[in-house]
Amino acid sequence: MDSNEQLIVDAIDKRRDEIIEFANDIYKHAELGYKEFRTSAKFKESMQKLGLQIEEDLAITGVKAFLNPDRKNNFSLALMGELDALRIPTHKFAYEETKGAHCCGHHAQLAGVVGAALALTIPEIADQLDGQIEFFAVPAEEYGEVEFKNKLIEEGKIKYGGGKCELLRIGAFDDIDVALAHHINAKGNRIGSGSSNGFVSKVIRIIGKASHAAGAPEEGINALSAATLGLQALGLNRETFRDEDAVRVHPILTKGGELVNVVPKEAVIETLVRGKTIEAFTDAALKTDRSFKAGALALGADYVIETMPGYLPEIPQAFPEELKEAFRELTNNDFTEVNEDFHTNGSTDVGDVQHLLPVLTFNTGGMVGGLHQDNFDIVDEETAYILTAKMFAISAYRLLKNNAVLGKSIKDNYEPRFKNKEEYIKFMDSFNQVEKGSYK
Ligand SMILES: [Zn+2]
Ligand SMILES: [Zn+2]
Repeated sequence: MDSNEQLIVDAIDKRRDEIIEFANDIYKHAELGYKEFRTSAKFKESMQKLGLQIEEDLAITGVKAFLNPDRKNNFSLALMGELDALRIPTHKFAYEETKGAHCCGHHAQLAGVVGAALALTIPEIADQLDGQIEFFAVPAEEYGEVEFKNKLIEEGKIKYGGGKCELLRIGAFDDIDVALAHHINAKGNRIGSGSSNGFVSKVIRIIGKASHAAGAPEEGINALSAATLGLQALGLNRETFRDEDAVRVHPILTKGGELVNVVPKEAVIETLVRGKTIEAFTDAALKTDRSFKAGALALGADYVIETMPGYLPEIPQAFPEELKEAFRELTNNDFTEVNEDFHTNGSTDVGDVQHLLPVLTFNTGGMVGGLHQDNFDIVDEETAYILTAKMFAISAYRLLKNNAVLGKSIKDNYEPRFKNKEEYIKFMDSFNQVEKGSYK
């Protein structure tokens, strides 16, 4: 490490308690996607304390803070931290007001970004950065609350369910050359990223006819029965999903009737349809539609299948050697490296960003329990928060020093899947479909 890097590490160590306090405050006040108002305000406050210019209300709750805005034309790097949490009311730190809990550890990302900002804004360091840094708090990574998001879409407040998808759409990534992302990891410190599943989301409505369930069932059309048959048909389709496509279709029934003595008039199924490639989840989505249409056909019901774009698959991205060396020093060689064959069946909107610009990802440990589970907890604040801050800051410094030569080489060697934002939006919108039919 050079003397500037030592200064960065020392500055973060010196303000260790402050970073941990910020992390714990966010940890205990978790909020869900597109509703992270308190979290976003806390992030903004800490950025303003450092004298940084702010841009806010990006995709409802997103906030950017700019360091060295006068150097943005040379290079612009984003350090991303996600704002949102999950509704897990049984977690020990579930926030009374929202029932939310940070069981995906996004608060560690935000603490890392805030901690990095404390060090990078030191004038001697900021002066060495030959480019702009955007400290970027991003909303709504977890894909849930589809009905709530649909309402926001109807109100014209957003167009896409995923926070980064929406930020791409409104142009909040237009001025960024490379982004740096972090996630907490159950298996410890790690660098690089493999692939993940992409998906579309569906709300399937079966509409039958109500009637007295005992007195006159022959006059009714049982929507729950049609939905049940649809679920069976989908199950029987599963043998056609290829192992290498990592298809995951996991429907839930959100409505199955109103009252026990009335033939169910309406049944509602929500599902995500995931796969390793766009072709894989598109094929599974077609089979999902067919299955529920078959259920409606058999019972003589109507159906409405609403499909919405979800997230695109992640693209494997190696970690540059210079940053790997930094991680080696910061962790005393205690880390693993993701090779490009690594695949996870979950999904993230980081994949969408990667379709337009490079995103470098690192993980830190410090957690126990499982992600998205109520036994999740932080047991090592040094690793979860402080190491994260140091890695964000040292990486930023190495990418931007010496005329941002490293940052520029990553950008220049990257081949985005879409030429521009417009192409991405057109592609996403092609998934937006409503299909209706009647077998009554
Ligand atoms: Zn998550
Ligand atoms: Zn997460």
